[in-house]
Amino acid sequence: MTVTKQLYQLQEIDTEIESAKQALSQKTSQLGNRQALENAQSQLASEQQRLDELRRQQHAAEWEVDDMLSKIAAAENQLYGGKITNPKELSSLQHEVNTMKAKSDQLENKALEIIDQVEAAEKSVTAATSELKKMDDDWQSLQQQLSDEIEQLKSRLADLKQKRQQLSEEIDSQAVTLYEKIKQQKKPPVAKVEQGICRVCRISLSASELQRARSGQPVQCGSCGRILFLS
Ligand SMILES: [Zn+2]
Repeated sequence: MTVTKQLYQLQEIDTEIESAKQALSQKTSQLGNRQALENAQSQLASEQQRLDELRRQQHAAEWEVDDMLSKIAAAENQLYGGKITNPKELSSLQHEVNTMKAKSDQLENKALEIIDQVEAAEKSVTAATSELKKMDDDWQSLQQQLSDEIEQLKSRLADLKQKRQQLSEEIDSQAVTLYEKIKQQKKPPVAKVEQGICRVCRISLSASELQRARSGQPVQCGSCGRILFLS
């Protein structure tokens, strides 16, 4: 195998190492991230709070209705009880009963509106609760999946690093040094040559460059400086 072919293989391993490292850091940052769950939890908490507040309003409104109804009943007892006979007094009492009945209707309507709101809020709390439960289940299985993937990536990285170590020991050390030096400045450090063109910088190579590159010894592209590899 030529030196440039070996360097190209080294580069392929480096590319795999790079992408495994990226995947590993991405999965690691996802692991334990509860942000979406916490948002859903606080959303649910505020909907629950609103429901509690509406229920308090409902009880207060119902209490007002009951209070008004018992006042009306007491006034009607007086009205029809027979103890009051003065027509003026009776008429005034009748007027009072009518006013209270109108007020009682208003209060009942208000209570009914609140009850509608309570029912809507109950539905939304129920929906948010089951959504949260589902999110929590999904989160648990995602954590498991992430942990598994992280373990796989770690072991893959270890394999790749070992493979890289073996390969780089087989390659001429000067060539590896050149590869590392170029890699620090530009990635990828090895460029394929196709139809006489450096595939990275797209420059046509001279006949002598091609000739030297064909030998399989490391030759740098005159334009981008990468090691040329003729497959
Ligand atoms: Zn080039």
